[in-house]
Order: sequence, then C-alpha cells, then structure tokens
Amino acid sequence: MTEPTPRSPAPGSLALVQRFINSTEMPDGVDELRTAPLAARWLHDAVGVEMEVSEKDRSRLIATREALRDLLEAHTGENVDPAVVVRLEKLLGHAPLRPVLTAEGATLAVNCAGVDRFLGMISTAIVEATLLGTWSRFKVCRSESCRWAYYDHSKNGRSCWCSMRVCGSRDKARTYRARQRLGSTGSA
Ligand SMILES: [Zn+2]
Repeated sequence: MTEPTPRSPAPGSLALVQRFINSTEMPDGVDELRTAPLAARWLHDAVGVEMEVSEKDRSRLIATREALRDLLEAHTGENVDPAVVVRLEKLLGHAPLRPVLTAEGATLAVNCAGVDRFLGMISTAIVEATLLGTWSRFKVCRSESCRWAYYDHSKNGRSCWCSMRVCGSRDKARTYRARQRLGSTGSA
C-alpha cells in the first residue's frame, strides 16, 4: 500500500507492526487482508514465511490489527478503553514465546508456527520497542478518517498527525472554518 506521507518508517522490528496496521487504508480503502488467500500472500510478503491462513485466522488478524490501532491512540494523548488491552493480550497470547540466552543476555523467540508465529513476532516487536524506548513514538494519526500508523521522528515527539502537510493542515483548516462559522453566527 502506498504511504500517503513522506515520513520514514518506524525503526527496527516496529516497521513490521506499522506495515501490519497499514495493511488497510481507512476509512474505505482496499484491505490487503480482505480474504484468507490474500492474507496468506500478505504474510508471505511481510515475513517471508509460507503460512496457512483459515478464515478464523484472518478474523484474528483483523481483530489484532484494529486493537493495535485503538491502543496506539494512547500515544497521541487519547484515553484508551482498558478492554482494548485485555482483548489484545488475549489475541497475542496464543503465541508462546521462549527466551533465547547468550552470555550477553536474552531475546525472545516465537515458539510456534502459522499465523500465531506472526502474532508472536508482533509481540516481540512491541517488547523490543518498549526496551528501546521507541514504542511511545509509534502512533496512529489523530484524524478520524485516516488513523494511519506512523513513527514520530520529530524532535519533541509530540506530533499527532501522520503528516502535517496532509492531515494536520486539513484538521487545522477544519478548526479554522468552524471558528469562522462560529464567529459569523456570533456577530449576526
Ligand atoms: Zn493522517
């Protein structure tokens, strides 16, 4: 899917989570996971592994994707329903992770196959991003009609739109017009 913005992708394994969330374009764009065979193809492209995808697996993928999108609203200051976290933990919880140890420390590896393997990769990406301090900069655009996942590379890390040029300015224009309207009715 073409990125509507010039922002560079999220660093490291977060790029996979970003690609996953952006596998559909809100509010009515094409969903790359719209059928089970298409979802299998998408997974193969994204992680290079052949996976069987049933219709039930596809539903789990969509539910996970949308729960992640909801969760990321917290990173632009929105209140996220705690039920979203519970739902996401349940969805990701089917993929067992195991520690891989070396003298330097441990990483987490996914210990299963199929769609669960992909969901496990999503979990490990989130854990890694949390440890690296990049998770809080991973956001979804605040525009209701966009909700595109992007990485906030800005200096202060306080951006709320996937692109100020597209969504931010559109939102500002809307606020401006609303104010104008209020102003004109107020003076009439
Ligand atoms: Zn946007």
